[in-house]
Amino acid sequence: MRLEGGCYCGQVRYIAEGEPTLKAQCHCRECQYITGGAPNMFMLMPLDGFHYSKGTPKQFIRSDLDQPVTREFCAECGTHLATRRPGLPAVVVKVGTLDDPSRFGAPQMAIYTIDRQDFHQIPEGLPEFERLPKR
Ligand SMILES: [Zn+2]
Ligand SMILES: [Zn+2]
Repeated sequence: MRLEGGCYCGQVRYIAEGEPTLKAQCHCRECQYITGGAPNMFMLMPLDGFHYSKGTPKQFIRSDLDQPVTREFCAECGTHLATRRPGLPAVVVKVGTLDDPSRFGAPQMAIYTIDRQDFHQIPEGLPEFERLPKR
């Protein structure tokens, strides 16, 4: 599939090509900051199929962690677009930044439910993991 998306103000745009290797919702505390409190809906898209077609996002990397992720967001409007994890050959794309978020379809699992809030919804029957599923 070929997905296009961008930030709220339009200064940063991306294209993500290939098949998603995972579609999920993440309940972790970090995602709660970024979403506004709800679980974060994301797709893992192949690294080599992802590129920015307009603008350059600002990157944020925590300095206090051993293996920090890189979070990419628009410096103008603040929209968080994507995350890169060391060693992962995929980009974590935030579904809300797709031009057509309905192409997400549905999550395949809920992860980091250890940080789940009582008001978080998990669809009935969806596999749940306290952290990440075993590989
Ligand atoms: Zn923007
Ligand atoms: Zn998360």
